[in-house]
Amino acid sequence: MSYPEKDSKIPFVDLRDGARGIMVWAPLDGDKISEAAFELIGEANRQKSKLDEDSQKIIAVLIGKEVDKHAQELIHYGADIVYVIEDDRLEEYLTLPFVTSLIDVINEAKPEIALFAASTLGRDLAPRIAAKMNCGLSADCTEFDIGYYANRKRNQRFKKAFKMIRPSFGESKLATIIGPFNYPQMATARPGVFRKLDKDSSRTGEVIKFQPKWQEGDFAVELIETVRSSDSLDLTKADIIVAGGFGLGKEGFDMLNELVAAIRANGQNVELGASRAAVDAGFVEYKHQIGQTGKTVRPAIYIAVAISGAVQHIAGMKESAKIIAINHDPSANIFLSSDFGIVNDYQEVLPELIKQVKAGYKFDLD
Ligand SMILES: Cc1cc2nc3c(=O)[nH]c(=O)nc-3n(C[C@H](O)[C@H](O)[C@H](O)COP(=O)(O)OP(=O)(O)OC[C@H]3O[C@@H](n4cnc5c(N)ncnc54)[C@H](O)[C@@H]3O)c2cc1C
Repeated sequence: MSYPEKDSKIPFVDLRDGARGIMVWAPLDGDKISEAAFELIGEANRQKSKLDEDSQKIIAVLIGKEVDKHAQELIHYGADIVYVIEDDRLEEYLTLPFVTSLIDVINEAKPEIALFAASTLGRDLAPRIAAKMNCGLSADCTEFDIGYYANRKRNQRFKKAFKMIRPSFGESKLATIIGPFNYPQMATARPGVFRKLDKDSSRTGEVIKFQPKWQEGDFAVELIETVRSSDSLDLTKADIIVAGGFGLGKEGFDMLNELVAAIRANGQNVELGASRAAVDAGFVEYKHQIGQTGKTVRPAIYIAVAISGAVQHIAGMKESAKIIAINHDPSANIFLSSDFGIVNDYQEVLPELIKQVKAGYKFDLD
């Protein structure tokens, strides 16, 4: 490996103090491990070969009531070591004991990198841990890398700094955030951005039952009742997303809902998505929003109807396998990110599409 000549007078340093491996918090989603945890374990596996050999291990952390049964699944999806913390009081997420648990695991396992999903819980948990461990946190990352970094101000060079990459300035730029000074190097990542590995049931790993040193105050909050939303919308799991923009108006969304219902009636896994302008106009609820401030999705087919293709929207759907755009403006930005484009009024295209789907047309997902 060669390094830039201009940095040659800056000494290489290793401030890890024994920290090795990549830790991923694996929260539960009901009685299952959240998809975001598998995605992060997948990405950690893709990155680990860039680390020193003794650091190429993925450490998952599982916390809750009777969660031991999920440990093997984490190993089958790429974890090497699973720390299991069980307690009847932790059936549901509770901030304080979870913070203490993860800090105790970090102090015990000493990972050089710690990853959390940028979910509601991950966003609650990760900054508290980072603040207590004085190690900084890069939020909402969409890419990771590991490699060379020279800090001329500190007169320090690092061979394997963790590069946490995230969109900035309204998604128009990508910022790379680096902090190999305090460990672990911590980041949250947007769910839906990374791919999980294929399940390998023959993979083996180590399961460690771990007892954190909870303080009395950790259980000061008593959870009286948990009310789960009956809404099963999960845009990240849909094979097909039909998304509407501001150009549709309220009536256009009625047509789009009809298309979604017809696709679903054919047995295909489809959900309704939307741009922020459509949400802001009140055509559809926020939970359908895709983009920088909505969900990140990667379905097999993404159909964008009357969406202009602003960078903030593209950020949330650009990884879709096939993108089909319908817009009456041939210069609309969405066509630059599409595999197929239909330049026409949606009122011409949607009724015909609905007719075809009702007649049995199924989208090819391959
Ligand atoms: C910090 C920040 C975060 C943001 N986050 C998001 C986000 O998460 N998601 C998001 O989507 N946006 C987000 N935005 C907003 C984004 O910049 C755009 O304003 C928004 O995506 C535009 O939505 P739109 O394409 O539906 O509306 P418009 O830009 O108004 O486009 C409407 C489109 O419909 C087409 N059209 C109109 N009538 C018809 C017709 N009859 N037939 C066919 N086509 C027609 C028009 O040609 C046009 O291209 C964010 C902005 C900022 C600053």
